[in-house]
Amino acid sequence: MSDPAMHDAHASAEEFAALRRDLHAHPELAFEEHRTAAIVARTLRGLGYSVQTGIAGTGVVGTLSRPGGTRSIALRADMDALPIQEENDAGHASAAPGRMHACGHDGHTAMLLAGAALLARQGRFAGTVHVVFQPAEERGEDSGAQRMLQEGLFERFPADAVFAMHNHPGLPVGHFMCRPGPFMSASDKVRVVVQGRAGHAARPHLCIDAGLVAAAIVMSLQSVVSRNIDPAQAAVVSVGRLAAGHVYNVIPDRAELELSVRSFDPAVRALLRARIEATVAAQAQSYGAAVQLDYVMGYPVLVNDPGQTALAVQAARDVAGADAVQADAAPIMGSEDFAYMLQARPGCLIRIGNGLHSPALHHPRYEFDDANIAIGAAYWKRLVERYLAA
Ligand SMILES: [Zn+2]
Ligand SMILES: [Zn+2]
Repeated sequence: MSDPAMHDAHASAEEFAALRRDLHAHPELAFEEHRTAAIVARTLRGLGYSVQTGIAGTGVVGTLSRPGGTRSIALRADMDALPIQEENDAGHASAAPGRMHACGHDGHTAMLLAGAALLARQGRFAGTVHVVFQPAEERGEDSGAQRMLQEGLFERFPADAVFAMHNHPGLPVGHFMCRPGPFMSASDKVRVVVQGRAGHAARPHLCIDAGLVAAAIVMSLQSVVSRNIDPAQAAVVSVGRLAAGHVYNVIPDRAELELSVRSFDPAVRALLRARIEATVAAQAQSYGAAVQLDYVMGYPVLVNDPGQTALAVQAARDVAGADAVQADAAPIMGSEDFAYMLQARPGCLIRIGNGLHSPALHHPRYEFDDANIAIGAAYWKRLVERYLAA
């Protein structure tokens, strides 16, 4: 922490901590980040960035060029909140019922703005930096990163590499972690509707019990990973939603299930799909029920480029010290739509600690730690100065 860049970062961090708390109080859901995007655009213009708005609806890109270089780099933050009722009671807790910044995207936005400020005020680099503020990371499908790419993100704002940062509960504040290669999992979503025949609870022989079929499907799904996937590979099948029936004395004719499926390998991902489809169909058929299955392929595996990851680790060590940066962290079973940007350009997503005792991401008592703003901003500045060395 003896780095002079850290001193400068602390000086402007308080300003951006206030901005972060304001964003926290006014969370906006996917593709509705109008207020957030306006604040981002206004702040970037005030810093001297050339600003484009309305990319993928509410996306914003700020560009800053310095003479002497032809290379370019993109830094990405996400802006959206979640449909969660906040349980914190701080003064800046969410003012919007049922909406909350429970994944720290308020902090990601503030860290990148603070980094943009450091770059504009003191950055020593030659070339072009694009700061990309993305909507709708949390959607799981048809997300903000996909739409920005479809709308020509890297054609309109050419970048040789792209980088992102996500906060990480369970890692001390001021620490970083990442790994080269696959770092975060692919995430697919499955919706299942079982159609049986309703009737009186006392006359089950005249019914097809959709609740029983759903229960059998849940149990048999437990064999998909345990008896099909190589134990040396990673895979998860979780039933996150199961709904059937309305009252104790009526056998339900309909049941609904929603599954989350995670994997790190394309072959494993394909095998999981095949086995889930076959298992669900066979279980329903064995009870005489009809079934409809909708398999939504979500975000792909997030793959960090080895060379760019080495650069990110160097930048993190410059600002946090060598001991505070894990360069070979274990893969994470969460997913990120930044994976799409990494399919388009080489780069790296790094995780910054949100504290050992932080509630988990997506928890109603989660909160981004503002101490990260100075560290995160210093990381962004140092990364650009290393990539676009003058
Ligand atoms: Zn999230
Ligand atoms: Zn997130």
